[in-house]
Amino acid sequence: MTGTGSGVGDGNFVVRPRLIVVAGPSGVGKTSVLGELRRRYPDIYFSISVTTRPPRPGEVDGAHYHFVDDQTFDAMILDNELLEHADYAGNRYGTPRTPVERALAAGRPAILEIEVQGARQVRAAMPSAFMVMIQPPSWEVLVARLTARGTENPDVVARRLAVAKDELAASEEFDAVVVNAEVHHAAEQLLTLIAKSRSGHPA
Ligand code: 5GP
Repeated sequence: MTGTGSGVGDGNFVVRPRLIVVAGPSGVGKTSVLGELRRRYPDIYFSISVTTRPPRPGEVDGAHYHFVDDQTFDAMILDNELLEHADYAGNRYGTPRTPVERALAAGRPAILEIEVQGARQVRAAMPSAFMVMIQPPSWEVLVARLTARGTENPDVVARRLAVAKDELAASEEFDAVVVNAEVHHAAEQLLTLIAKSRSGHPA
């Protein structure tokens, strides 16, 4: 598959080779929604971020994240290896540039699952990116999901919820918003939006 006129599809939706940014507060279910896209569209490139956060149980280096120390993260910034990067609730996260550029050059759509500061940097660097925010059906649901996940201690949950307030307030900066009340439905909505989108705006 080559060229920008192509795309990848599953018979229902064709996704064009472009950069897609999916943001939204921690606990909103971005990973679950994107997991469904990943199953249906194995040809989409899903970026693997670098982070200084320690792995959670079950997380695999090189699959969920590239887990690095601060020194390595600094070196990547200096060498211009990150497309964007941000501090988030006490840890650092960034998108390795080369794999994303290679995927797009090969005619594959690329998806970044990142937080809002990073999304703003992508918007500035690549205005043609399509930017989607995933929101919870209510604040209470977000609190319940983040708490029930049990992967973070109460301090970290509180920090993430504080950041979430600002993130939700940034929804107008995005091309589209998907409310994740139910994962399958949200994935379907996201697909519809990105299949219809052109040049950073829904058709
Ligand atoms: P978590 O620690 O829960 O895996 O991720 C915390 C937040 O960082 C989430 O909102 C996640 O989407 C975001 N994130 C993950 N990778 C990146 C990245 O490469 N860049 C930015 N800016 N945010 C990221």
